[in-house]
Amino acid sequence: MRLNFDDTFNKELRADPIITTDRRQVQNAHYSFVTPRIPSKPSVIHVSDDMLQMVGLTKEEGQSEDFKNIVTGADVYPQTSPYAMCYGGHQFGHWAGQLGDGRAINLGEIIHNNARWALQLKGAGVTPYSRSADGFAVLRSSIREHLCSEAMHHLGVPSTRSLSLSLTGDQVMRDMMYDGHPALEKGAVVCRVAPSFIRFGNFEIFASRKDTTSLKQLANYTIETYFSKISSTGTARYIDFFNEVLDRTLEMIIHWQRVGFVHGVMNTDNLSILGLTIDYGPYGWLEGYDKGWTPNTTDKQNKRYRYGNQPYIGLWNLYQLANALYLLVGDSKPFELALDRYKNQYTIKYLEMMRSKLGLNLQLKEDARIVDELENILEVSETDMTIFFRLLSTVQKEDLPSQALTKVMASFYRVDEIQDRIKANWISWFEAYIDRLQLETIDDEERQNSMNIINPKYVLRNYMAQLAIDDANKGDYKLIDDLYTMLRNPYDEQKENEKWFAKRPDWARYKVGCSMLSCSS
Ligand code: AMP
Ligand code: MG
Repeated sequence: MRLNFDDTFNKELRADPIITTDRRQVQNAHYSFVTPRIPSKPSVIHVSDDMLQMVGLTKEEGQSEDFKNIVTGADVYPQTSPYAMCYGGHQFGHWAGQLGDGRAINLGEIIHNNARWALQLKGAGVTPYSRSADGFAVLRSSIREHLCSEAMHHLGVPSTRSLSLSLTGDQVMRDMMYDGHPALEKGAVVCRVAPSFIRFGNFEIFASRKDTTSLKQLANYTIETYFSKISSTGTARYIDFFNEVLDRTLEMIIHWQRVGFVHGVMNTDNLSILGLTIDYGPYGWLEGYDKGWTPNTTDKQNKRYRYGNQPYIGLWNLYQLANALYLLVGDSKPFELALDRYKNQYTIKYLEMMRSKLGLNLQLKEDARIVDELENILEVSETDMTIFFRLLSTVQKEDLPSQALTKVMASFYRVDEIQDRIKANWISWFEAYIDRLQLETIDDEERQNSMNIINPKYVLRNYMAQLAIDDANKGDYKLIDDLYTMLRNPYDEQKENEKWFAKRPDWARYKVGCSMLSCSS
């Protein structure tokens, strides 16, 4: 099996001279060399065929012993030097100091078809950044990461990818609900893939230590390697870089809002400098539309990372990145201008996105109100976001408001709630919506088609991932592949998968893993 390695990060940037995994503060270095731990009985349980191709491997190679050894850490590819990155981060609004790849080990970068892909094993053992933790990952969270990163990509949401999901054959101790009941679980490794895994926190750590040299090296490296369109020089180069990161972050978050994805842990160490969704932990998908919802039990009190707050947190995190890059610029004005631009752009782009969800082509003044009113009424009674928007595309210009309401009925969790006042509100919203549709020049069919490539039919609902996890724990991996395959085409009608176009079943409402999740992984 041949992989076309072409490392830059661990060649052009500064290595930690110490090569043990002793937990420590690593100074003046961008990374530390580490070797993945050899798993006792590795087995690959799922491979993303798309990613195999992207990295230049055939299906047969994906089933080979060599492949298994590389993606589980049993072997290190010849002439490569795996490493863990040093980064810091703001966690839940507070500076947390050095964090770093505590259980992620970068294998290196490969080039295939002119694209650069970094390969990273998550759960392959301790590094100098593991702090008090074990460097491992469990099967349940690895299934969630593997499936969701691929699903997000196919939804059109920028994301890190996943090449493979493997068992290590080792057991890992976890207190899943943080309630004093630790138990052994199956250990797993995901081989993640992205152009780069650099995070906001990689910049913050050097700024916090006033290590301008390392900060500058990292910024120059990142711009040259990943933002090669930036041609400015001097301090303008860092400003242009910041603006580009800001645009990408904003775009990613608008996509999250579009599909109803809640990341759950938007700490600055979990924000990719490339604007990719990264670090799938206690994430979740809105079922009932609710701006106040977060899947993360650790954030139950403040709900800092709730659905409706994600756009603001994106901005907050960009402030932290600006503070770090300020050290290279010495003038805060250009950063302030950029951050103001985020606020304006967000309002514009959000409305643009919501128009597309509603099938509105023209840009009319009243649209903002129609969107606002819809968001309010969606929250009044529990309404499944995915099903609502999918069914909305069946509404026609000539429908009566009451007919339109009937068409979306299946998205309400308690149909009996849609009486009197709530019903009247819906009728008046549909009146406005249908009036608005009549101003459009496109016909019903065109509109339906345009809406159905924006509003997915299938998303990875929490209970679906949990069903795949329950089966996998019993050694049955079929559902992982079924969901993977279905989620490759989330906007298509798939007759054989109609059963997944359904509201969350009642049994899943409070079941662990189906509604809320802890950070334990
Ligand atoms: P997260 O909240 O998962 O993004 O992780 C925050 C920090 O904790 C990162 O530095 C991770 O590498 C580290 N971390 C999380 N889980 C583990 C683990 N099981 N072993 C070592 N480090 C971990
Ligand atoms: Mg993380």
